[in-house]
Amino acid sequence: MEHSEIIIGGDTAGIEWRVPVFRFKGSDAKAPSVYIQAALHANELPGTALAHFLLETLREAEADGAILGDITVVPQANPIGLAQSHFGEMQGRFELGSRTNFNRDFPLIALAERETLLENLDRRSAADRLKRTLLHTALGADLVIDLHCDDESLQYAYIDDAFWPEATDLAAALDMQAVFLSDGESSAFEEAVGHAFKHQGGDKLSSVPGRLAVTVELRGRRDVYPEMAKADAAGLWQFLAGRGVVSDSAHRAKDYAGPAIPLDNIEMVRAPEPGTVLFHRDIGDTVKAGDLLATLITRPGEPDGTLPVKAGHDGLIATRTSARYARRGEDLMKIACHEATRKDRKPGTLED
Ligand SMILES: [Zn+2]
Repeated sequence: MEHSEIIIGGDTAGIEWRVPVFRFKGSDAKAPSVYIQAALHANELPGTALAHFLLETLREAEADGAILGDITVVPQANPIGLAQSHFGEMQGRFELGSRTNFNRDFPLIALAERETLLENLDRRSAADRLKRTLLHTALGADLVIDLHCDDESLQYAYIDDAFWPEATDLAAALDMQAVFLSDGESSAFEEAVGHAFKHQGGDKLSSVPGRLAVTVELRGRRDVYPEMAKADAAGLWQFLAGRGVVSDSAHRAKDYAGPAIPLDNIEMVRAPEPGTVLFHRDIGDTVKAGDLLATLITRPGEPDGTLPVKAGHDGLIATRTSARYARRGEDLMKIACHEATRKDRKPGTLED
């Protein structure tokens, strides 16, 4: 194993950011290579915990000669966000200086243009340099896994149609309860990787066998526990074994039994008015159209001071906000539905 660091100079004097990178050299040149990254949104730590335990397993595997493909792991990808403490709370999603999302505005390039990512890096901001260096590193691999989490959430993933259904093995290995089939139309890290994989010269590819770019949502932000992280690491190991990145004679492929849902079928339940949120239903619940999901206390103490929020469609509650006060229009839940719930969705991911 090679342990190195990506070093990024800060935007002010005296600051330098360091991103640890772990690399394992595979013994079989024909085996697929993999890039695994965690906590690009710095306050999403289930992936960092997973990567910690996976690295332990990979070190043992290396000693046993079981690493077949090249493996790169970046367990804590965003030291800039990690350091942003604002009024006592980590701000790991947006860069405070530019107000940009750490997981948006990745350059959409063809795979052959990979080296252009590193051109004129010293003229770019630290956040841009971080993004370009991570993307450049990832594009050296065949399989790219970006580990995030939601707020309160089931285990699910965003997977571009181009990699589905080949990626059912990942969904099964990580015991996902849903897969959201994305359209590859945003500038998130995973979509920039997918863009490069689909643009390898000639026409855009609609399917890219042997490649993968995925955003895994490892449940909720507070779902960081030793046994959970070890089980997730073991699941990811099983995926790697199934793809022939590592060798494990005990590997048995599992079937994925959960739903695969186009983004147009995700009902975003929003608060029509501001208020204190009383949830009646939780993640993992199956609901019917018309079911009461939450009551908003919009005018506390007044008769008729509440507003019911009901499900618009039948489906599975995949995520829920952890906040108990909702501003007008704020997202309360995502429900994975059997049918299209709206026609007004802009291409790209569901939220900023
Ligand atoms: Zn995230």
